[in-house]
Amino acid sequence: DITPIRRALISVSDKTGLVELGQALAARGVELLSTGGSAGMLREAGLAVKDVADITGFPEMMDGRVKTLHPKVHGGLLALRENPEHVAAMEEHGIGPIDLLVVNLYPFEETVAKGADYDTCIENIDIGGPAMIRAAAKNHGDVAVVVDGTDYSALLDQMEANDGATTLAFRKSLAQTAYARTAAYDAAVSTWMAGAIGEETPRRRAVAGELKQTLRYGENSHQQAAFYTDGSGRPGVATARQLQGKELSYNNINDTDAAFELVSEFDPENGPACAIIKHANPCGVAVGATLVEAYQKAFDCDRTSAFGGIVALNQPLDGETAKKIVEIFTEVVIAPGASEEAKEIFSAKKNLRLLLTDGLPDPKVAITAYKQVAGGLLVQDKDVGYVGLDDLKVVTKKAPDAQELADLLFAWKVAKHVKSNAIVYVKGGATVGVGAGQMSRLDSANVAAAKAERMAAELGMSESPAKGSAVASDAFFPFADGLLEAAAAGGTCVIQPGGSMRDEEVIKAADEAGLAMVFTGMRHFRH
Ligand code: 5GP
Repeated sequence: DITPIRRALISVSDKTGLVELGQALAARGVELLSTGGSAGMLREAGLAVKDVADITGFPEMMDGRVKTLHPKVHGGLLALRENPEHVAAMEEHGIGPIDLLVVNLYPFEETVAKGADYDTCIENIDIGGPAMIRAAAKNHGDVAVVVDGTDYSALLDQMEANDGATTLAFRKSLAQTAYARTAAYDAAVSTWMAGAIGEETPRRRAVAGELKQTLRYGENSHQQAAFYTDGSGRPGVATARQLQGKELSYNNINDTDAAFELVSEFDPENGPACAIIKHANPCGVAVGATLVEAYQKAFDCDRTSAFGGIVALNQPLDGETAKKIVEIFTEVVIAPGASEEAKEIFSAKKNLRLLLTDGLPDPKVAITAYKQVAGGLLVQDKDVGYVGLDDLKVVTKKAPDAQELADLLFAWKVAKHVKSNAIVYVKGGATVGVGAGQMSRLDSANVAAAKAERMAAELGMSESPAKGSAVASDAFFPFADGLLEAAAAGGTCVIQPGGSMRDEEVIKAADEAGLAMVFTGMRHFRH
């Protein structure tokens, strides 16, 4: 699949590096075709260049709106070299193959950024460029497409290493870059037009996805909102089927996602698990011998907060669990399926939304996560960091026993899904106190302890369930105070990343308090 480059079409707005590229290609015997401005500059540098206008037999016209939009160009880019019919068509119509396309587009984004008027922006929408880029990228089996000057040297290196050719892997990579560029370009045009028509609304956003539904409103009733699918078809809230209940709200979707992502951390092969979420934070998470037991244990952690919550299950909803869930008001239940009996029980609760999927989100797929900031986007991999038994380092004199280790790893999984600063108390495969989103780790430890106290009161327990619990901290304890608070609440073992300047001080405090502590070497901030 090594295709030598014999003929190149160059049409660039940004002419940086153009002459050097042209010279290097000419030195390899590549025939150069080019459009007006680009051809002029190459010719000035003493290179032999053919005008695209001479090949098409049409002059560039309409202020450059029509330059390369011609079968002589697009046929040369799109023809499959090994398809006899395509080759015959090329011969019949006098179309020569184009093996390399070098294009960068009219500077639409820069024109908008400069505050240009409407007509100038319109004139800077490149038409022929994206058409050629998309054609060449589609035909990457035969054609190399370069849309970015930073790739010129990689192209020349490839040709140097492959006798004037490029590898298929390289052309594929170039094609991917090319489609990313045309997608971003059209998104920029669409966003600008939304502004120009005074409707920069969520439903008009050019995001990489398909509009699934416009929502009644966003986080608050004065905010417009919409919901897009990303085209991946992955199991999750965006692809779930809603069997019953009112229309989902923006907050429902956000919370349901948090719940389902969290419960998916618990492999169904290891038994049933349940997560109950409020405002994107867990108010109870548990595993159980049965699904109904997991639900009950999760519910018991914080009965007050669970009211009006979102319930996610890692196994199909059964009748018994359904009966238990309908005892209180719940906004949404999401599960990978439901029994007929469960559906029947839910059908009596008209407002309860039931979402069913064909599986769980895969907690190990590092899909891209976005966060908007003023004037930009922050892009990162989703946090798919995983810590297993073998990764744990015991740092205290005392080591956790088997039950403690199981609870520590459970608490760690939950802490990953709690807004920072996160402190989580766990006992017997269930959370008994969750401290979320505080600005100091000590406050989070206090909140978690207070929640455990309330659980004792709600369930009429004689002592706080935090007594004898495992404690997780999503990031290191910067001081011993948060750790000591957890010990005072009754924690007997601790899991945390370690890595603080004061680790030694914290370990000493843990030893003095008789705690067993393990370091994960990995933190799980979530903001
Ligand atoms: P040049 O400076 O070589 O005259 O023009 C280069 C620019 O023209 C490139 O940005 C390229 O994407 C763009 N271009 C090439 N063909 C066409 C066309 O048929 N229509 C439009 N609108 N732009 C084109």
